[in-house]
Amino acid sequence: MADFSSYNFKGQKALIRVDFNVPLNDKYEITDDTRMRATIPTIKKILNDGGSVILMSHLGRPKGGPEEKFSLKHLVKHLSELLGGTTVLFANDCIGEQAYMTANMLRPGEVLLLENLRFYKEEEKGDEAFAQKLAKLGDVYVNDAFGTAHRAHASTAVIAKFFPAEKRMFGLLMEGEVKSAEKVLHESQKPFVAIIGGAKVSDKILIIENLLERATDIIIGGGMAYTFMKAEGGKIGNSLCENDRVQTALELLEKANKKGVCIHLPSDSIIADKFDANANTSTSPSNNIPDGWMGLDIGENACEQFSNVIKKSKTILWNGPMGVFEMQKFQHGTKAIATAIAAATQSGAFSLVGGGDSVAAVNQFGFADKVSYVSTGGGAMLEYFEGKELPGIAAVKS
Ligand code: AMP
Repeated sequence: MADFSSYNFKGQKALIRVDFNVPLNDKYEITDDTRMRATIPTIKKILNDGGSVILMSHLGRPKGGPEEKFSLKHLVKHLSELLGGTTVLFANDCIGEQAYMTANMLRPGEVLLLENLRFYKEEEKGDEAFAQKLAKLGDVYVNDAFGTAHRAHASTAVIAKFFPAEKRMFGLLMEGEVKSAEKVLHESQKPFVAIIGGAKVSDKILIIENLLERATDIIIGGGMAYTFMKAEGGKIGNSLCENDRVQTALELLEKANKKGVCIHLPSDSIIADKFDANANTSTSPSNNIPDGWMGLDIGENACEQFSNVIKKSKTILWNGPMGVFEMQKFQHGTKAIATAIAAATQSGAFSLVGGGDSVAAVNQFGFADKVSYVSTGGGAMLEYFEGKELPGIAAVKS
């Protein structure tokens, strides 16, 4: 695998797999361009070197043929703006005559965006012949799509073998994601705290199991904490509970105990009489919630309890909110945790926020630049933390 930063792209056509799977409204306007902005430094470095860029991505979940609402042509204008006015050409098919001709004629400093890869069902099937056709478009292959690195698709993994090792590499975004994840999983300075929240235990079992091998402390908050509370014999009222996971929760607690990993559950909760932004609220010990009430956020004591653990840690991983942060009455716990992580980071800890809703929370509360790294890859980062090898990373490295 080549090193992107030291590679000179002069005269080269770089075929980059990006993750431009951005949300569009019904007027085909981009409502959140985070994923596009994340890969701009990679594109700029290649253009500044005197290379040209061919971008390929998926958008949405088309059924296997062209669909207007999933066309990447809606992104052309905005991409050009993000690149400071650089002309962005568009090929309305990711393979075929027009794509090859435009790619061939591309001059240094120019950008070509290909139509949605998933207009071909071969993409998700990881079809070799399709991957080979894509590979013909560029001289070098750059994978900058961390968000799809957990998929063994034609453009994310299979394609890599059609480029020699010295002509395939990670882009800057992918490199940053991989380095940050490695720092947490394999090079963590102790104490290492993992903060796991969100709705479901079932989604996070594999992560917790993997982290039991690595972390010093695991903080469990959010809706999933109540399944653990129940496993310990607590009374949880109407709080979220996965009854078929109570035994698993118990086993995880026992495993942690054996391994000397400290599991922290919220001592108290903000409880509500219904799942509603205007519900009546009160505070209760998390293991003694009255009937008819449900825990929708961690309480003040839990905030302090968790913050103390976070502030003494040198490595921090955060996945999943502490409560129903979308509703104002139940945001406090998630904000308190973000504040503690920001303080620990300022004192020298390495903090990584990864996976879906905790990323949304740090962005919403303005903490994104107060933590060490915010991952762009939801599902990919989760699988990485589960200890799985991601096909998109393995294919480029091998
Ligand atoms: P996840 O996708 O598993 O990370 O879960 C995120 C979702 O969990 C968010 O939409 C939160 O509103 C929700 N959540 C967090 N805490 C609770 C809770 N105590 N009860 C119900 N839902 C919760």
